[in-house]
Amino acid sequence: MAMKLDQVSPNLLEVNNLVKYFPIKGSWFGKPKHYVRAVDGVSFFIRRGETLGLVGESGCGKTTTGRTILRLHEPTGGQIIFDGTDLRKLRSEELRKKRKDLGIIFQDPYSSLNPRMTVGDIIGEGLLVQGLTNVRERTERVHAMLEEVGLAPYHYRRFPHEFSGGQRQRIGIARSVIYSPKLIVCDEPVSALDVSIQSQILNLLKDLQKKRDLAYLFIAHNLSVVKHISDRVGVMYLGKLVELTTSKNLYAQPTHPYTQALLSAIPHADPDMRMDRQRLKGDVPSPVNPPSGCRFHTRCPIAVEQCKVDEPVWREIRTDHFVACHLAK
Ligand code: SF4
Repeated sequence: MAMKLDQVSPNLLEVNNLVKYFPIKGSWFGKPKHYVRAVDGVSFFIRRGETLGLVGESGCGKTTTGRTILRLHEPTGGQIIFDGTDLRKLRSEELRKKRKDLGIIFQDPYSSLNPRMTVGDIIGEGLLVQGLTNVRERTERVHAMLEEVGLAPYHYRRFPHEFSGGQRQRIGIARSVIYSPKLIVCDEPVSALDVSIQSQILNLLKDLQKKRDLAYLFIAHNLSVVKHISDRVGVMYLGKLVELTTSKNLYAQPTHPYTQALLSAIPHADPDMRMDRQRLKGDVPSPVNPPSGCRFHTRCPIAVEQCKVDEPVWREIRTDHFVACHLAK
């Protein structure tokens, strides 16, 4: 029986307490002695057609979160409810079928495309895997997709090395979008590109989202990039979310000291928009042995004694504004 419209959850993805630990083995055959706690209890949702930005310094676990949601890494714990199905419970054949609703765009448009394959074969591969064996139909779909991402049908027979960085990223986007997924994990899709090209690619992603009702998990280390594409933004530090709110709230009222420090590092041409630069002391601690209490306490400029002992609770301090900090108001 068809599902009534009012029964469809507005949330396309719900991630509950996601954990991903990578074992560090002492020897080839020995048991792991330690674990890299790359993602350590992360929860959020993404609505249909929405963009959630995920930011943080390198090593904070944002890329691992994206890949674990797609089960490119096996989760250590938690739930990944996608379109009403717990992805963790799917066996390989069921997961393969579900994958047509999930896509990924990689950071590096140079290494993510097979140099021996033509552009047509790269983009059409996903359709073939999904069972579209009719060559003519597949070719037509690829031609149309090339035009949709701003390339031309005659690019079909060319090879990746014949394209610029921005064009290669368009090919990567076409490869992900052609089989009409519902959610795409965009893993730093513009960070390897020139600034002048970045906005073109962001505009393309926005256009495709509008036309195809796509949802994005948009991963970036640069808060200014995320601002222009995200409806809401989550900030990660050492495997945990520390703040999550609407894009507008995050930039107008950053509340967690880590978010404030990241925002203060963004250069602004407008002097009214400039914040006093807050330099964080020290390096990001090791995710193998994260600090006790609040993981940020070793670098936090306003830490108090309690921060060394008690882990802050993830709480909603204003409507749609979640923070994990003892002192947040
Ligand atoms: Fe800083 Fe303490 Fe808040 Fe952590 S809980 S961000 S250490 S004030």
